[in-house]
Amino acid sequence: MTTELSFLPFTKPTIDEDMIAAVADVMRSGWLTSGPKVQEFEAKLSEFFGGRPVRTFNSGTCTMEIALRIAGIGPGDEVITTPNSWVATANVIIETGATPVFADIDPQTHNIDLDKVEAVITPRTKAIIPVHMCGLPCDMDKLYAIAEKYKLRVIEDAAQAIGSTWKGKRIGSFGDFVSFSFQVNKNIMTGEGGCLVLNTPEEAKLAERYRLQGVSRSGLDGIDVDVLGGKYNMTDMSAAIGLGQLRRLEEFNAKRKALAAKYFELFGTDFTAQTGAELPVADFENSNWHMFHIVLPERINRAEFMQKMLDVKIGLGYHYRPIHLFTLYRQRGFTDGMFPVAERVGKQIVTLPLFPAMTEADAERVVSAVKSCLL
Ligand SMILES: *Cc1c(COP(=O)(O)O)cnc(C)c1O
Repeated sequence: MTTELSFLPFTKPTIDEDMIAAVADVMRSGWLTSGPKVQEFEAKLSEFFGGRPVRTFNSGTCTMEIALRIAGIGPGDEVITTPNSWVATANVIIETGATPVFADIDPQTHNIDLDKVEAVITPRTKAIIPVHMCGLPCDMDKLYAIAEKYKLRVIEDAAQAIGSTWKGKRIGSFGDFVSFSFQVNKNIMTGEGGCLVLNTPEEAKLAERYRLQGVSRSGLDGIDVDVLGGKYNMTDMSAAIGLGQLRRLEEFNAKRKALAAKYFELFGTDFTAQTGAELPVADFENSNWHMFHIVLPERINRAEFMQKMLDVKIGLGYHYRPIHLFTLYRQRGFTDGMFPVAERVGKQIVTLPLFPAMTEADAERVVSAVKSCLL
């Protein structure tokens, strides 16, 4: 007898009845756009990040762009980042008129290789945007030592790192600008959304102006526009979802961590020796396990592997195709061979299913399918 297997996606948000009721309440209140729920969410996030100022936005992308603008970055400036990220990380640099500069990644962590950063710093370098890939933090001591030495601003792309820690301190509770995404695939989500952790009340005020057309208000009818802002505010419906999600963050991350540990147990210690596939860094101290990646051996064609997994109803992701190989970036002079580690990893990486509602039986199903494709 065969039992019908259901499709297992690589990720899925957890939505409970309280979150649905909270959104319904906002709709009944008649105040749908940024209002009391956004303020409450920002206050809770600020508490979560040790009291630092926090402002919310309608994406993690604009969050980083606004951080760059607050840092005064624009035409003529260079910003260093990693080729191994969602394209948003580099697009925001171009958006400000600055020039993206890449440094290759570390073959184990898949984060920017901080030993390769100093070599690409020039007198025009103004900032670094590191990414905490899969929620595994970059070496924060090394990162901020470089920033200090060359007087660079840091915009941490912590889109995947909510709840991650470094030496016992939460990512976002220290450092310079720290940007999070609440896009639906992230560890907590608001549908679409993001937040920026800032340093001072002045920066927070500026963030508010960039968020909404540059407008500042005073009194009952005072209004001025002194910077070119956009339309980046979060709605109260999104903030209501975010409040419900934030309450469950610890539980979600604990579940992810347990499933990641299960994956390691199921793959076993000789998986790499047997198959040539690489497992992620087994960090159960700092990471929030946003994703679980494996790097397939060169002999395996990734698309064929993904199809075989789909045939047994398992959806995989691939994060990420190196940014510098996209047409937009090739047009700016980037070519194959410039960042060999990111290129090798980007060609063979797959993201296995990992989300809080997944079961150990799901993990067993994934591992046995992976093994039967590779062995
Ligand atoms: C999701 C993500 C972004 C973009 O966030 P949005 O909210 O979708 O704009 C940027 N960088 C990384 C590393 C991400 O994972």
